[in-house]
Amino acid sequence: MKTVWEKYDAKAMKKVMAVSEDYKDFLDHAKTEREAVSKSIELAEKAGFKEFKNVKKIKAGDKFYFNNRGKSLALFVIGKKPLEDGLNILGAHIDSPRIDVKGNPLYEDNGLLMMDTHYYGGIKAYQWVARPMAIHGVICKKDGSVVQVCVGEDEKDPIVEISDLLPHLARDQMSKTGSKVVEGEDLNALIASIPAKGKKDENELVKKNVLNLLKDKYGVEEADLLSAELELVPAGKTRDLGLDRSMVMGYGHDDRICAYTSLAALLESKDPERTSACILTDKEEIGSVGCTGAHSSFFENAVAEMIALQGDYNELKLRRALQNSRMLSSDVSAAFDPNYPQVNDPKNAAYFGKGLSFNKFTGSGGKFSSNDAPAEYIAKIRKIMDDNDVAYQVTELGKVDQGGGGTIAYILANKNMDVIDAGIAVQNMHSPYETASKADIYEAYKAYKVFLKEMK
Ligand code: MN
Ligand code: MN
Repeated sequence: MKTVWEKYDAKAMKKVMAVSEDYKDFLDHAKTEREAVSKSIELAEKAGFKEFKNVKKIKAGDKFYFNNRGKSLALFVIGKKPLEDGLNILGAHIDSPRIDVKGNPLYEDNGLLMMDTHYYGGIKAYQWVARPMAIHGVICKKDGSVVQVCVGEDEKDPIVEISDLLPHLARDQMSKTGSKVVEGEDLNALIASIPAKGKKDENELVKKNVLNLLKDKYGVEEADLLSAELELVPAGKTRDLGLDRSMVMGYGHDDRICAYTSLAALLESKDPERTSACILTDKEEIGSVGCTGAHSSFFENAVAEMIALQGDYNELKLRRALQNSRMLSSDVSAAFDPNYPQVNDPKNAAYFGKGLSFNKFTGSGGKFSSNDAPAEYIAKIRKIMDDNDVAYQVTELGKVDQGGGGTIAYILANKNMDVIDAGIAVQNMHSPYETASKADIYEAYKAYKVFLKEMK
């Protein structure tokens, strides 16, 4: 098989395109981890899921979710077998590289109001300048209220930008290495330039004007920015890419493309033998740390709560439930790029249109820090994927010693469960706009459904 496109008939093509349309809509409404959680809950509730805190007892077939601070989510469909026998888990992350706003962000410089930032995740800083950016996030006030912010997505909204130097004056800049062409501390966004009417000798009037605007629109003071999470993300919508519309370009495929397809599969899970689970986690891009990252005990606690509702909780049952679980830890892989063939071993590269990518290991410098999935587990996966006509490829992220990366796979594997990295290949990973193949999105969605249903 060259690519999976060859085997699609007209009916299959319709499904391939339909799944991507749903995904595009999800991505356009999920540009931050918080928005991804809200959108996922909306879809889950539509599919009959309830929030666990309102659940008194559980039985096979029940569907519910746990919401962790609006930034990570775990969803379950209870199986016929006891939880102690293990769960089939789909996991992905919903945070993406972006430009976060600092706690004390505003300063005025020669009549321009600037917003200081601290980038989030592994970015090439020079890719994030001279482009329309939107501001998404929350401002939390001392009275406990939370103001939702989303400016720059509606075509009538204003946008902000991080400026770049004109080539005419960039002789010094252009002689620098890539990591220094634009430096992290210089990623300051231009946000305003009209001064408020003020007294003679009054300073920072542009800032005063913007603070007035913020007061009017959101009821917030400058000090409220101390307790805010504001994220600058590329403004605009996901687009079809290619004259044949075979691909999708958008902000934040990493890793909402696996998150959405995992979620969609979970929402369709019906009367499973083993309990189906989907974990959508935060903070992967900065090490999966903190209360909403995969290292948090959130997921484990959720399983414990469910065991307690099944009756006679004890810790051994929880440990057995985790140990007997199997997981697809889904995260994007690096797609072969004809412009940069030299970074891959062609035999082990991930290609567009060849289906879900399984990475036995990730890591770097001799597989360092990788979850190296057991071969026996991979054999089981091959069996169920082949039996159900799912296209997949077994791949590696780049040539040996070319670089590397990590995922959440090892974190769950540390609970002694079988875990393998699986995911959709993308080009331009971690850039403002990433590209993926619609065929791979569709095959991933199929693979996740098969995994929830068939994995023993
Ligand atoms: Mn990722
Ligand atoms: Mn990433």
